[in-house]
Amino acid sequence: SVKVGRPVDTLANSYVPLPAEALDAESLRAAIVRKLTYDLGKSQAGARDRDWFMATALAVRDRIIDRWLSVTRAAYEGGQKQVYYLSLEFLIGRLLRDGVTNLGLDHLVAEALAPLGVDFEKVRQAEPDAALGNGGLGRLAACFMESMASLSIPAFGYGIRYEHGLFRQIIRDGWQQEYPEDWLNFGNPWEYARPEIAYDIGFGGSVEAVIVSEARMRHVWHPAETVQAVAYDTPVVGWRGEHVNTLRLWSARAADPLKLDAFNFGDHVGALADRVRQESICKVLYPSDESPAGQELRLKQEYFFASAALQDLVRRHLRVYGDLKSLPDKVSIQLNDTHPAIAIAELMRICVDLHGIAWDEAWEITQGTVSYTNHTLLPEALESWAVPLMERLLPRHMQIIYLINAFHLDRIRAKHPGDTRLLSSVSLIEEDHGRRVRMGHLAFVGSHKVNGVSALHSDLLKKTVFKDFHALEPGKVVNKTNGITFRRWLQQCNPGLTGLLTEAIGPRFLDEPEALKALVPLAGDAGFQAKFLDVKRQNKEALAALIRSQLDIRVDPHAMFDVQIKRIHEYKRQLLNVLETIALYDAIRSQPTRDWVPRVKIFAGKAAASYHRAKQIIKLAHDVARVINSDPTVRNLLKVAFLPNYNVSLAEMIVPAADLSEQISTAGMEASGTGNMKLGLNGALTIGTLDGANVEMLEHVGAENIFIFGMTTEEVEQRRRDGIQGLAAVEASPRLAEVLEAVRSGVFSPDDRNRYTDLVDALCGSDYFMVSADFDAYFEAQRDVAGRWAEGAAWHRSAILNTANMGWFSSDRTIREYAEEIWQLPVRK
Ligand code: PLP
Repeated sequence: SVKVGRPVDTLANSYVPLPAEALDAESLRAAIVRKLTYDLGKSQAGARDRDWFMATALAVRDRIIDRWLSVTRAAYEGGQKQVYYLSLEFLIGRLLRDGVTNLGLDHLVAEALAPLGVDFEKVRQAEPDAALGNGGLGRLAACFMESMASLSIPAFGYGIRYEHGLFRQIIRDGWQQEYPEDWLNFGNPWEYARPEIAYDIGFGGSVEAVIVSEARMRHVWHPAETVQAVAYDTPVVGWRGEHVNTLRLWSARAADPLKLDAFNFGDHVGALADRVRQESICKVLYPSDESPAGQELRLKQEYFFASAALQDLVRRHLRVYGDLKSLPDKVSIQLNDTHPAIAIAELMRICVDLHGIAWDEAWEITQGTVSYTNHTLLPEALESWAVPLMERLLPRHMQIIYLINAFHLDRIRAKHPGDTRLLSSVSLIEEDHGRRVRMGHLAFVGSHKVNGVSALHSDLLKKTVFKDFHALEPGKVVNKTNGITFRRWLQQCNPGLTGLLTEAIGPRFLDEPEALKALVPLAGDAGFQAKFLDVKRQNKEALAALIRSQLDIRVDPHAMFDVQIKRIHEYKRQLLNVLETIALYDAIRSQPTRDWVPRVKIFAGKAAASYHRAKQIIKLAHDVARVINSDPTVRNLLKVAFLPNYNVSLAEMIVPAADLSEQISTAGMEASGTGNMKLGLNGALTIGTLDGANVEMLEHVGAENIFIFGMTTEEVEQRRRDGIQGLAAVEASPRLAEVLEAVRSGVFSPDDRNRYTDLVDALCGSDYFMVSADFDAYFEAQRDVAGRWAEGAAWHRSAILNTANMGWFSSDRTIREYAEEIWQLPVRK
């Protein structure tokens, strides 16, 4: 077979053969120029980076399509089981390098562009970053799509084609401001619009009960309003180009584009009002759910895409198999969190109301087909919908949920008569704070398997939110520790390290991530350490240049790059990191001549627009940065840089350049984390709590190669139960007391001395996130970090061992586990 792209002998396996004209740089160049000329209507002379990006993407896309069409057809015809991954978020990022790497064309594309005077790197960066998600959950969905394609598992991802993804973060005077993200402004070369694949999605209206016979009644839903869901397909190409799946995102289209009579009477705005309202469903990712109007839109989004997905997959299944009885054998629907949980009621409606299947059989089909991934234990993030809103928006689904609940409670009552506590605890309806539908309970009851996303998280699920459910159905909750795709998070974002690893241990790890273990014997090798360090240094130089250009801050690439990049949230405890930064600053100033380890504290992350406390923490990080960066007494020993607008592309710059990875959430609150894995894989040492997947990272890399500190989940719970205030920790720690006093008194906010009073009060009060309680332990762990860094070789050894031992965290492993245990689907080894 023909091997593409790279020198043949560096590859363990071949890439899938592409036609000869796809293989040489000249033909690819000609194809790109053709796209530029005939698809974009631009001359080479007038083309900008963005045009070259479009032309290149279109030419690369052409090399994916034949495979896409043939494997999709083969999956239908071969009767293979299909996975449908339903997710309200896909944090995709840029796709060009993904496609090019997985096809093995990376060198070829650069070679094709160079004689045109076009730099591939610039072209790559002209691609907008598709941020159709908030953070970890959405990025997980994107990694899973890539892994399913790489493992040749036939799969569709279903989500929403938001016109504006996650907001663009601009920092003005230290405060976060949100602006709409315009990723579609200049067109999206990866997607195929499918205006002919459209489904009616109903809202509101009434339900008519039609008596069919003495024994049967049929329900007919007459929605008050109908919006169309239109498909947009993006091919997702797997590693080595063997398999290509589809990400199908739905866009809302009004059934009536405009009211012509109103328009003709001069009411030009009113004529469009319905359309604007209906199409607002796919305008923005997560509209604020603070206002009642925002909540309704969110629920509409959830039903909109879940219903479109189900109508689509049911149609496809019926076309091949003729009836829905075989659905559990041929289809697995994975719910990424509760956002698509309404799919359970929708599938019941499709079976019972539209296909006349008896309730019990429909329930078996539904449960047999659906499974659910839980992503959070945080009470405020457990979704529930007010019953009146559900009744108004989805009247038939509300009836179905009541009936599911009635059968569910009957079964439990029969086994546990008189246990009213148990009944109200597992009911799908919350009765205490106004009646609400608990979406997590609906998802649990309607699924055959429920999974958490790390060992600790799955364990806590069984002990907390789903404790009673777990006792009723032991074995239903399973664990699937998250993973990351190594193609994006090693090969593409860190070509220097990938090259070094290939040279050192051969290319097997590209196909079998656990083969990275072959690095272990090299960890102490001074020659290899020097090369490893050299790669890291180059990545740090690139990041230093970015920091300089974005923030006008000079940082020394020889300093330790201490990185905390993730959503800004109190439980992730950026505040703890900022307070430690202040303590370190104080310590340097009081002993300026000690041999301090030079550090750059690097932060990036967005706060939810309505999350005041998180925005206040961003402001504090900036206030602290301003004071420290301009203080000549710390010289270059400490710098603070907050890079704005954290997204996948920025992560791809920071991750390969990090020395220290901050994974310091309050124990018991981070479900898994995946940033922790990305940073570890790229040779950063972790400072972290025993939370989420950190626990498993500790097992894999060994206690001597990770810095674990702080309270355990049990200790956090105990301290909360005991009602111990933060003040106790502050009084016991002169260092913390001094830091908090400085923050409280306005040392960092001379323009507004009261800016942080409430923040400090919270740390002295309930200290819910244990920032005060964990401060001393964190400060000490940071001194251990500095000690290791000062040892040089010991640090490099640990860094190499982190890379070597991260193979298990590949999302290929995670997906294999889903396939084997949840989807019952054979996977190639
Ligand atoms: N946001 C973005 C843009 C990411 O790339 C990632 C992970 O790579 C995350 C959020 C999740 O980070 P964490 O697991 O640290 O919360």
